Amino acid sequence: MGTNAREILQMDRSARLMERAVKRLPGGVNSPVRAFRSVGGDPLFMSRGEGSRVFDADGNSYIDYVMSYGPLVLGHAHPEVVRVLEETIKGGTTFGAPTELEVEMAELVCDVVPSMETVRMTNSGTEATMSAIRVARGFTGRDKILKFDGNYHGHGDALLVSAGSGVATLGLPDSPGVTRGAAKDTTVLPYNDLASVRALFEERGEEFAAVILEPVGGNMGCVPPDGGYLEGLREITREYGTVLIFDEVMTGFRLARGGAQERFGVTPDMTCLGKIIGGGLPVGAFGGKREIMEMVAPSGPIYQAGTLSGNPLAMAAGLATVRATGEPGFYEGLERLGARWRTGMSEAASAGERPFTINGVGSMVSIFFADGPVTDFGSAARSDTKAFKDFFWHMLRRGIYLAPSQYEAGFISRVHSDEDLDRTFEAAREWFVAAGKG
Ligand code: PLP
Repeated sequence: MGTNAREILQMDRSARLMERAVKRLPGGVNSPVRAFRSVGGDPLFMSRGEGSRVFDADGNSYIDYVMSYGPLVLGHAHPEVVRVLEETIKGGTTFGAPTELEVEMAELVCDVVPSMETVRMTNSGTEATMSAIRVARGFTGRDKILKFDGNYHGHGDALLVSAGSGVATLGLPDSPGVTRGAAKDTTVLPYNDLASVRALFEERGEEFAAVILEPVGGNMGCVPPDGGYLEGLREITREYGTVLIFDEVMTGFRLARGGAQERFGVTPDMTCLGKIIGGGLPVGAFGGKREIMEMVAPSGPIYQAGTLSGNPLAMAAGLATVRATGEPGFYEGLERLGARWRTGMSEAASAGERPFTINGVGSMVSIFFADGPVTDFGSAARSDTKAFKDFFWHMLRRGIYLAPSQYEAGFISRVHSDEDLDRTFEAAREWFVAAGKG
C-alpha cells in the first residue's frame, strides 16, 4: 500500500505552504510533531474546523481525532465558545490586572477538582508543570524529583528527560541544551512499576521533593495506570513527605469533570491543568493544597508570574467549555463514544492478521501496532511504526485525521457522531484486511 497521500488527496496548497514554512520556521512548524516527520510527507496545513471536522488548506475535510491534542472536548468552533469570545474581545484582550473571569475559573476548578484548594493560572501546560516542580521543591526544601519514562510534562529542562511525545516520535535522545545540572536531580523509572518506586524510596525517599506523573499516560499513546498503581504512589509519597503531582494537563476535564483523580479516587497534593480549561486558547494552571500553594508569591516567597496569565479570552473560552462539561450526561456521552471506538476498532483490526492492541480510558484512545499488553513506554515502543505510518496515510486518504505518531493518544469530542465512528471503523478495516501479515 502506497504512503503517498497525493495519489488521491489534493494537497498542493499544503505542500506550497510547507515550502515557505521551512524557510522561516525550524522544520516548518511551531511544535515538532506537527511536521509529520515520523510518518513522512508534508504536514497538512489546516484552515478551519467545525464540530468533529477539520478542513485543510486545499479544502479536504477530515474527521478529526487530533482535536488540537486534547483541548477541543466540545469540538471545533463550538457556538457557545465562539459567542463568549466575540463578546469578551470587544472589551479588550488583556489588562495586566485581575479580572472577574479569573475568579470564576478558579472557583469552578477548585469546586470540581478534588485536590485543588487554590490555583494559579499560566499560559501553557509547560509553565504549569515547571512551576509546580519549583513550588514542590520550595515547600519541601528538597531538590530531587521522580518522573516516569514516556510521560511528557512539557519542555521545561528538569522534565525533558525520557519524555515521550515528540521526543519519542522523533527518536531523539534527551535534548541537547538541557544541562547536566538541570537534569541531575531528575530520576526516571518505568511507568506502572510500583516496586521500583518502593525500592528507590526505601533507599532515599527523603531526598525527593516530588513525584510527577500523568495519571493516565497520553504521550506514549494512551497507557492506563495498572490497578493499585496510583494508590501505591499516593501511599509511598505520603510516607516520605514527598509532594505527589498529577499532571492532568491532558486528563483534566476529559476523563471526568474532576479529572483522573476523580475517576480513580486518588487525590494528589498538587495538580497541573491545561488544554480543556482554555477551550482552545493558550492556558495552563497548577494548584493543590492550600498550605503548599501559600508558598507562591505574593502569598509566599516562591516566585512565579506571567504577563498574560489568566488572560480574559482564555478564561472566557475555558469557562464556556468547562461549564458545558457540567451539563447532565456529558461524560456519559463521552464514555459511550470512547467505548464504541474501542470495540469498533478492535473488530475492524481483528478482520486482518496484523498484531494490534487497543488501549483507552474514556475518550482517550490508542491503537498500537504491537501485541499487547501496552503498559509502559517499553511495551509501546515495540510497536511496528512502519505499519502505523502506512495506516496513518490510508486513514488520511479516507478522510480520517489521526495524530501523525504512534506515541500520541487520540481524542474523541462530545460532537463526534456514531456515523463518524462508523466511517473510521470501515476505513480501518479496509487497511487491516489489505495489509495481510506484513
Ligand atoms: N503535560 C501533559 C500531560 C501534556 O500532554 C502536555 C502537552 O501535550 C504538557 C504537559 C505541556 O503542555 P503545553 O503544550 O501546553 O506546554
